Amino acid sequence: MKSSFKWMLASLAIVAGWCLSLGATAWAGSPEGMRLYVFSSGWLNIDKSALQTGAAPGRIQIPVAFFLIKHPKGNVLFDTGNNDRIITDPTYWGPMAASLDPGRSPDVAIDVQLEKAGFKPSDINYVILGHMHLDHAGNVGKFPNATIVVQRDEITNAFWPPPGYAGPYITSDFAMLRSGLGESMPNKYKVIELNGDLDLFGDGSVYIHRSVGHTPGSEMVVVRLPKTGPVVLTSDACYLMENLTKNLLPSVGLAYDPAGLLRGYAWIKHMRDVEGADVIFAHDPETFKAHKHSPEYYE
Ligand SMILES: [Zn+2]
Repeated sequence: MKSSFKWMLASLAIVAGWCLSLGATAWAGSPEGMRLYVFSSGWLNIDKSALQTGAAPGRIQIPVAFFLIKHPKGNVLFDTGNNDRIITDPTYWGPMAASLDPGRSPDVAIDVQLEKAGFKPSDINYVILGHMHLDHAGNVGKFPNATIVVQRDEITNAFWPPPGYAGPYITSDFAMLRSGLGESMPNKYKVIELNGDLDLFGDGSVYIHRSVGHTPGSEMVVVRLPKTGPVVLTSDACYLMENLTKNLLPSVGLAYDPAGLLRGYAWIKHMRDVEGADVIFAHDPETFKAHKHSPEYYE
């Protein structure tokens, strides 16, 4: 009796260990065939102290990540990078062009990059916007067939931000989302206006998490892949891995709600520690380099 009890405990321990290790590497509830592609819309050369208060002055070169999630119920973009107009028209960003010194070449255009992975802009069913700054909502207008998924607070903030926060919003990036004169319905595109979280397909595989901090309507996404497991895509809710580990905030103009940013960091850490989630920041050069890039993908 005693030895069979011991055997039962040992078996339970083995099963529990197996479940834990499985949890970090796979997500059984997500549909087969799901994929996550990682892209960069060129790069920016920015002073590190903008991304991290107290950092020594000096520019660093950072990626401008955006993502494509292939799911049986639809293809989803998370963020859309820099507006492709800057490739041919350096004045499009006005004074922001000098402060961000963007890298531009024809091969970073979003349609060129999507095509290399086998997708046309018309194949995109949803565009989730982490927020609407120039390096995230830049190409939203290239997807008129898609449903835009964005926090209502971000839409109102992008069109008319409070003093001190207007610089990174280029209104012509997203003016096309608004209906024409005399229309009582404001949205010209299909838009899901959120004031909170959304489980996009109802199966937990693409979960949008509202995270007010960097901007009034920032949101992150956790993608739960059948083989890779959960991956958190931060947009600008956290800039660098070092910001996350040391709880460092960006400069004032990029921290609309500092306490909210720290709440967002805590959520990322929770996802990492409890679900074993990988984290891909939009602008961290080291962690970006360490990931697979399109046309390779995660399953
Ligand atoms: Zn931003």
